[in-house]
Formats: sequence, C-alpha cells, structure tokens
Amino acid sequence: MNENSKYIYFDHSATTPVLPDVVKVIDDCFTTYYGNASEPHSPGIKAGEILEHSREIIGKSLGANSKEIIFTGGGTESDNLAIIGAAEAYKKKGNHIITSEIEHPAVHMPLKKLSRCGFKITYIPVDRFGMVDPSDIQKSITSKTILVTIMHANNIVGTIQPIGEIGKILKEHDIVFHTDAVQTFTNIKTDVNKLNIDLLSLSGHKIYGPKGVGALYIRKGTRIMPQILGGGHERGIRSGTENIPGIAGLAKAAEIGQRNLSDKTIKVTKMRDYLISGVLSKIDDVKLNGHPSERLPGNCNFSFKYIEGESIVLKLDYAGIAASSGSACSSSSSKPSHTLVAMGLSNEEAHGSLRITLGFENTKEEIDYFLEVIQKIISDLRRISPLCKNKVN
Ligand SMILES: *Cc1c(COP(=O)(O)O)cnc(C)c1O
Repeated sequence: MNENSKYIYFDHSATTPVLPDVVKVIDDCFTTYYGNASEPHSPGIKAGEILEHSREIIGKSLGANSKEIIFTGGGTESDNLAIIGAAEAYKKKGNHIITSEIEHPAVHMPLKKLSRCGFKITYIPVDRFGMVDPSDIQKSITSKTILVTIMHANNIVGTIQPIGEIGKILKEHDIVFHTDAVQTFTNIKTDVNKLNIDLLSLSGHKIYGPKGVGALYIRKGTRIMPQILGGGHERGIRSGTENIPGIAGLAKAAEIGQRNLSDKTIKVTKMRDYLISGVLSKIDDVKLNGHPSERLPGNCNFSFKYIEGESIVLKLDYAGIAASSGSACSSSSSKPSHTLVAMGLSNEEAHGSLRITLGFENTKEEIDYFLEVIQKIISDLRRISPLCKNKVN
C-alpha cells in the first residue's frame, strides 16, 4: 500500500468493508448480548429476541415472511443448502436440474456432486453479454425437472439476469426456482413474490456486513432436506448454535443497505459509467465485458488486448488501488474465468480482463486517479508485451 495517500478499494464484488454501525452491533452482541438463543433464561431470551428481530429485517427486505428466512454460514452454504437440500427433497419427483454456464462455484460444485449421484444437469449458455435467454430454460424443461438455479447477477461481469421472466415460466410449470442473489441483495430491489422466487441466497460480507454469515429464503411450502444435522436450530433446517453477532451484523447491514438503496444505486451507477467511458475513451484496444445497461451498479469489466489482467492488478496495487483480474476464487489458478469463456471471449481476451467493482464510499476523485494510473500501466505493460510487438499496425 502507498503510505502517503489513502489506499483505494475497488473490489466490492469480492468483499466490502464493515460499516461502523454494523461493527457496533456486532460488538454489543459479543460483550453484552452473549446468550445462547436456545436457553430460557434472560440472556438467552435477549439473544433470541435479537435473532428474531434480525430475521424480520431480512424477511422484510425481500418482501418475505420472517418465518421463511434461515440463517447460514454464508453465501456458499446457502447455495449448497438450497441446491442439495431441494434435490434430495424432490428426488422422487425427478432428477433433472437446470442452471446456467456462468454460476458461482458455490452453485456449480454442488451440482457437480449431484451429477455424480444420478442427477442430470442442463447448463444453459449465455449470449456475448452474459445474459441467459428465458426461452432456453423453457425449452429445457422436462417432466423430470425439479429445480432451476440461475444467479440474479453475475459476480464477474455484473450482468443482471431476467429473473422475473424465468420465475414466471417456472411458476407455470410448478418447478422450484433458486437464485443466488449474493451480488444483488441491497443493490437491486428484490421482491421474492413479484419475481416468483422460491429459494434465494444472500451473504453478509458483500453488503458491508461480516464474513461467515448469510441467509437462505425458503418459500413456505418449498421443501428442503437439512444438510447440517444437530440440535434442530433454524426450524431443524440448519442446526448449530446461532451466530448472533454475525446475524445481527448481517441484519444491520441489510437495514442500512435497504434504507439507502435508490440513492446509492444512482450514485454508484453514475461513478461506474464515468469510469467506463473514461477507460474506453482514453485507452486503445480495450472492450467492455458484460451487458451495456443490464449490469450491477458498481461493476466495470474490461479486456485489454496484448496483456495479462494479473499484471494490471499487481501494478494497480503498487499504485494503491485494489482491483481484480476476474474472480478471487480462480485467481490461484491460471485458468481464465469460466464466465468470460462462456460469453465467447477468446483465451487471450479472458486473460486480459480487469474487474473494477465500486461501492458507495468511492469518489469521483478516486476514479480520476485510477484513470490517470491505468493509462500509464497499460502502456507500460504493452511496451514489454511480446503479443503487442507482433501487432500488425
Ligand atoms: C461471494 C459470492 C458467493 C459466496 O458467498 P460467501 O459468503 O463468500 O460464501 C456466492 N455467490 C456469489 C455470486 C458471490 O459473489
């Protein structure tokens, strides 16, 4: 980090800082309201009240009943519980599941496990903007289809899927619909009834709350086989002593996020469009990945020709800016992001990708500094790139 100036954080799709008001709530739960919510004494009752109040806040923010909210250990656990839990509960009805090619590994990996246990998985392709066509889902439905899981918005390129249209089709066919809304919760207004969603995953640390806590919305009447067995917490669906500090922190972050949703969206979208037009106008041989309009407020994803996204990230870090070259989950391997490949990008384009994800606390000044720095980084890297030397002018 550059010690003379403030480090600039542009990686909000990977995680977010925790808001001071959220830290305060968490701190109070650790020190004052430390009871076990299952116990009938006063500290236990107080912890139980915090738990149920948190459930109400999350339920309300989705247009759901609080009884339909189950707290979990994060977005990954919510996705696993929804997918494996529904597959096990409905396996007598059928063994066919539909998903997209661009889901998070927290969706793809449990599906891979299910495919080894006799389930058939259909992977719906996306167009060059990373968008699923609802009619492709309609065409893939068979009498054996029990579950469809399509993310609300993609974490790499930010494309927002036509969840409402998909929900309508699935409601007509009476098929359980799960969506991973980790990237959209408190960023895009989401009503589970209007959108006909049966299962919805969300996570604390993507919304200025703590890590290691999340929730799963389960529509009343939708069946889920528990995956973590024990004392029967969370209506028997997710055992384990409730993480009251985490849950209260998640609820506080959701409450603050919902309260400022439209102001925040307008501000962040404006900054995003300013950054995108700055990059596209100042730098040659660069393209925007993802949908031009149907994208997350804070998401910018570019492919720079002739160079590697990893090198750009390292140079940006040296200049005091945190960005991502795709997905943190796959950056330890040199494989290009499966989302970018599914969108039809060449290996070279996928390797040259850079993801900037803005948050409401970012400023225009930070973006101006970034635009100055990125031009120099790109031209420096291209000067030493063997791919660039071969470029035919
Ligand atoms: C971050 C993320 C997850 C995983 O959530 P964790 O709380 O980190 O387990 C799942 N899906 C998407 C789309 C994400 O961005």
